Amino acid sequence: MTSPSPEQIENVIIVGSGPAGYTAALYTSRANLTPLVIEGFMWGGLLQQTTDVENYPGFPEGIEGPALMQKFRDQAERFGTRFVTDEATQVELSDEPGGVHTVWVG
Ligand SMILES: Cc1cc2nc3c(=O)[nH]c(=O)nc-3n(C[C@H](O)[C@H](O)[C@H](O)COP(=O)(O)OP(=O)(O)OC[C@H]3O[C@@H](n4cnc5c(N)ncnc54)[C@H](O)[C@@H]3O)c2cc1C
Repeated sequence: MTSPSPEQIENVIIVGSGPAGYTAALYTSRANLTPLVIEGFMWGGLLQQTTDVENYPGFPEGIEGPALMQKFRDQAERFGTRFVTDEATQVELSDEPGGVHTVWVG
């Protein structure tokens, strides 16, 4: 796990660690953007709360929700994604094209 420093500039910050967050992390890490995922306190998102997921392509026998989310996380980590287990408390999006957005954590 990465410890956030008081102030740092990142290429990409992803808030949330459900299927959407880890998918964004996988693609941006494969693009060498070394994303930082603010995972929240419930990493893996809503699928952590379920048993069989029967409709995910590539798993013809189905897969347990937590096992699927572990695979999402491992795959993103393999390409250099970093994780912070904390919550984003505020987000400020820049109006400027190419401007710096600001995310407060914890
Ligand atoms: C019991 C149950 C069974 C389900 N079964 C299936 C199924 O079989 N097949 C299927 O296709 N779908 C299923 N779903 C739906 C599926 O879980 C959702 O469609 C999917 O999780 C949505 O993914 P997401 O990444 O958009 O959001 P989420 O999974 O909701 O993830 C959001 C993430 O953001 C984090 N977060 C929120 N606020 C903050 C913050 N301020 N800072 C940091 N992190 C934050 C949360 O902790 C969480 O990790 C099921 C849902 C439930 C509840």
